[in-house]
Amino acid sequence: MNFHVLTLFPELIEQGCRTSILGRAMENGYISLSTVQIRDYADNKHGRIDDYPYGGGAGLVMQPGPIERAYQAARERIPGAHRVIYLTPQGRVFSQSMAEELAQETDLVFLCGHYEGVDERVLERIVTDPVSIGDYVLTGGELPAMVMIDAISRLVPGVLRNQVSAEFESFQDNLLEYPQYTRPEVYEDMRVPEILLSGHHAKIAQWRREQSLERTARWRPDLLDSAQLTQEDREYLAKKGLQGR
Ligand code: SAM
Repeated sequence: MNFHVLTLFPELIEQGCRTSILGRAMENGYISLSTVQIRDYADNKHGRIDDYPYGGGAGLVMQPGPIERAYQAARERIPGAHRVIYLTPQGRVFSQSMAEELAQETDLVFLCGHYEGVDERVLERIVTDPVSIGDYVLTGGELPAMVMIDAISRLVPGVLRNQVSAEFESFQDNLLEYPQYTRPEVYEDMRVPEILLSGHHAKIAQWRREQSLERTARWRPDLLDSAQLTQEDREYLAKKGLQGR
């Protein structure tokens, strides 16, 4: 998977993505990152890439030309068809299932906006997917791009050392993950649930399923609407007096 990021703050993206698991995955060639400084494609010697909005209003808008030229520079490194994601609070909200879908791509381009946003015409010309990371407004698209790159990367084969850990976690089947415990066995008088020490794999699996159901019903009941529940799951929730919405 090759990530290409069009941004006014390449150093932010580089520092954020080249550490920890993603940094190791880049060193080992499972993913790659290239950033393009939009300001390098300004059409004036001051590097100015924004201007006042037509029609009036507060703030500045990023101009179309520098962004399109930065995109053309990124495109020279991309051999085939690719999606161009514009990070915007107006986009489809990012989710685990979108991360899974995007992890199938070979190249992804991210456009990070700033100020009041981006001239609509360049968005119409180059963007395939407007994506939001949630219903709140940030100062720029760099953090959202990093959130997406992180979530997508860990689904790329080889990035996680233990791939199984990406297969049984929150949002699989629209359920939250069960609670996790590690050593010590007793912490501040709190014991690890006995079942987890039993070595009985079937019972542990059942306990975890029940914990997932219970946690999802309490914390994110909206998810249960689309969860694949068995008759046994429904009976368990009913017994606990819990249900989806
Ligand atoms: N005026 C814009 C609007 O109301 O839609 C918001 C602009 S915001 C201050 C500046 C930039 O931050 C956006 O162009 C976008 O790239 C990024 N951004 C802000 N919030 C975001 C979110 N929730 N998800 C994705 N990108 C976001």
